[in-house]
Amino acid sequence: MPRIAGRLLPVLLLAAGLALPASAVPAAALPASDPAATALAAGATAGARAGAVLETRIIGRSVEGRPILAWRLGDPTSPVKAVFLATIHGNEAQPARILADLRDGRPITGADVWVVPYLNPDGYQHHSRRNAAGVDLNRNFPVHWIRQFGSYDSGPSAASEPETRAIMAFLTEVRPRWVVSFHQPLDGVDQSYAKTRRLAHRLSRYLHLPLKRFSCNNGCHGTLTQWFNATQPGRAITVEYGARMTWRQKNVIGPRGLLRTIHARR
Ligand SMILES: [Zn+2]
Repeated sequence: MPRIAGRLLPVLLLAAGLALPASAVPAAALPASDPAATALAAGATAGARAGAVLETRIIGRSVEGRPILAWRLGDPTSPVKAVFLATIHGNEAQPARILADLRDGRPITGADVWVVPYLNPDGYQHHSRRNAAGVDLNRNFPVHWIRQFGSYDSGPSAASEPETRAIMAFLTEVRPRWVVSFHQPLDGVDQSYAKTRRLAHRLSRYLHLPLKRFSCNNGCHGTLTQWFNATQPGRAITVEYGARMTWRQKNVIGPRGLLRTIHARR
C-alpha cells in the first residue's frame, strides 16, 4: 500500500495543479549507482523535509542523460527573482554547498529564488571542468562565441550542448533580476561589467570576497554571464571562491550573504 501511495502522490499533485515537492522527483529520473545523482536525490529529500523547497524541476538533461535539477525557494509571488547557479565547471563544486544550505534550510521570504547546484552533472561526476562531450560550457553560449580548443573547448557551434540550451531556456522563462554563477578558484567577485557594478559591490561586501576583474585568460567569449547580460534585462555575475572553501563560507557567510545581497531573509 505505501508503494502505491508513493507512486500515486506525484500524479495526484500534478492533477491538482500543485507543485511537485522535492521528495516526489521520480526515482527513475535519477540514474542508479551514480554518486552525483545520489547526492542530488539525497539533497532533494533533505530539502523536502526542511520545508524550504516549493518546487523541484528537471530543467534538462546532460550529454549522458543526467537530470539538471532546479529548486524553487522563497516567495513565488515576489517580483524580486534570483537564480543562483553552481558547478557549470564540474570540478568547481564546493560553492554548490551554499545553494544546498539555502535549499535545505528555513523558508526564505522577500524574494523568489531558484537554485541550480549542479549545472554540469556529467563534469561533476567525472571531476572534469568540461561536460561529457569535452566542451567548456562557459564558452558555449551564443554571445561573442568563437571556436576554442583544449581546456576551453567552446564546442562545435554556439549553444551546441544540451546543458547550455537547458539553462538558456530556463533563464529566459524565469527572467530573473539577478543571476549569480559560482566558480573556483580565483577568489573574488567579477566587476568587469558596468551593468553589474552595484551587484558586485553588494556581493563583495556580504560574501567577504574581494572585487576583481576576470578576463577568461584571453578575453571572454561565449560565457553564461556575457549571454545573459547581452540578451536579458536582468544582471548576471561571476563569483569565484578560492580552491578550498571554509565551513563558514559554505554554511554561514555564503547563504546569509547571498540572501542579504538580494534583500531576502529566512
Ligand atoms: Zn569556472
